[in-house]
Amino acid sequence: MYGQDKTLVCADCNQEFAFTASEQQFYSDRQFSEPRRCPSCRAAKKAARGESGGGSYSGGGYSSGPREMFSATCSSCGREAQVPFRPNGSKPVYCSDCFTSQRASSSRSY
Ligand SMILES: [Zn+2]
Ligand SMILES: [Zn+2]
Repeated sequence: MYGQDKTLVCADCNQEFAFTASEQQFYSDRQFSEPRRCPSCRAAKKAARGESGGGSYSGGGYSSGPREMFSATCSSCGREAQVPFRPNGSKPVYCSDCFTSQRASSSRSY
């Protein structure tokens, strides 16, 4: 039975934190050992490692992104734009700001 919250001490910051009954249940279901660190230290560790990197994969984590982005120069304002396709020079490329305003104005009179 897991009816009680536990108080554990974080190995990193030495702060006490609650290991709640439901977390105990969760950890026990997965046969995890008790957490050593408080939730904020765990979050910080995770963030430092790069959110959802594939564990043993080393090197740039670009391939795990949702899609590849290419950098191009915005045809409207000249700033660098990130686009989800490879710019081939035949079409104008817009940054997200200009893209939005292009769409807004083109619906009227273009
Ligand atoms: Zn901590
Ligand atoms: Zn632009």
